[in-house]
Amino acid sequence: MKVGILGAGQLGRMLALAGIPLGVDFVLYDSSPDACAANIGEFICADFNDKNKLTEFAKKVDVVTLEWENIPLSVLEHVAQYVPVYPSPRAVQIAQERLQEKTLFTKLGIPTPTYYAIESADELMATAIAHADHLVIKSRRFGYDGKGQARLSHADDAGNIWTDLGGVPLIAEQFVKFTREVSIIAARNPSGEVRYYPIAQNVHSNGILMQSRAVVNDPLQHKAEDYITRVLNELDYVGVLAFEFFDCAGELYANEIAPRVHNSGHWSIEGAVTSQFENHIRAILNWPLGDTTTRVDAIMYNLIGSMPNRDEVLTVCGAHLHDYGKETRPGRKLGHITLCNPSPERMQLIEATIHNV
Ligand code: AMP
Repeated sequence: MKVGILGAGQLGRMLALAGIPLGVDFVLYDSSPDACAANIGEFICADFNDKNKLTEFAKKVDVVTLEWENIPLSVLEHVAQYVPVYPSPRAVQIAQERLQEKTLFTKLGIPTPTYYAIESADELMATAIAHADHLVIKSRRFGYDGKGQARLSHADDAGNIWTDLGGVPLIAEQFVKFTREVSIIAARNPSGEVRYYPIAQNVHSNGILMQSRAVVNDPLQHKAEDYITRVLNELDYVGVLAFEFFDCAGELYANEIAPRVHNSGHWSIEGAVTSQFENHIRAILNWPLGDTTTRVDAIMYNLIGSMPNRDEVLTVCGAHLHDYGKETRPGRKLGHITLCNPSPERMQLIEATIHNV
């Protein structure tokens, strides 16, 4: 089988690395010539608006998936004329737009922070006056890793925030004083088989994920499974879906979904019987899904902006280093470390090697 991946960043790279042992070949499509998965399979370097190249790409493969949810809908729809695209363009479209996402959660009875649609600077000002100092303002599209959002502390900030966020349609959300952030990842194939990973407890800093740890038998596992199942069924979803929540004293509030493999599931490469990457490949090919239970306690650290000393990391027992092979740039995700059986001593050793901790 041949799988096409739109996007050749680290998620595309880990997807291909998981599929190769199963005998799957990959064609990766990206507009950047130095995309880090370019050398993992056949690589097509072309603009996402290049219809001829997209057609050539689609005709080479049995199924197409994506590693980045902001792939333009027109690209997905074009490719879908030739080959199945999983997850479906409709599912991706909803995940691309925060207001549509929140509307879906509300429709499905999934609690989410109170939100207000904002179309103009005047509406932002009026909402800020009514609910000042309890709001996070987010652009509806293209936000990631905390980009495209701002905390509103005073109504007076509304004008600057409107300008800073680019004067585009926004969503204002209640600022949630959460106890912790958690996410759940599930995989579903076209036959309707579904597998759930244990929820991960996540630590963010400035909107960027720093650490994830799988929690076995968490009291909120069933609730998280219930909520993600509602979304999977509603969208007739195929592939891996991630769902991020705020835990407020035992109540889950939906933050967002990601229609792809997710950073909070990287621990599963070493920590689960079947990784999220392998299960995504199995799901889109309609193959039986793999066991999602943990085989070892694991914590994942993101490596952001700079890489640690390789030898120091590899010396720590239980540490697995993933170097995405990307050029160093401030704030960029360059790799991650999964630490198995993380004793306090091992964690201390690993954290001493990481500059962003
Ligand atoms: P997002 O891009 O929506 O996932 O936001 C990135 C991070 O910002 C989240 O993981 C939270 O740490 C924080 N955040 C986003 N929305 C809210 C909110 N409504 N209340 C509190 N913190 C938030």
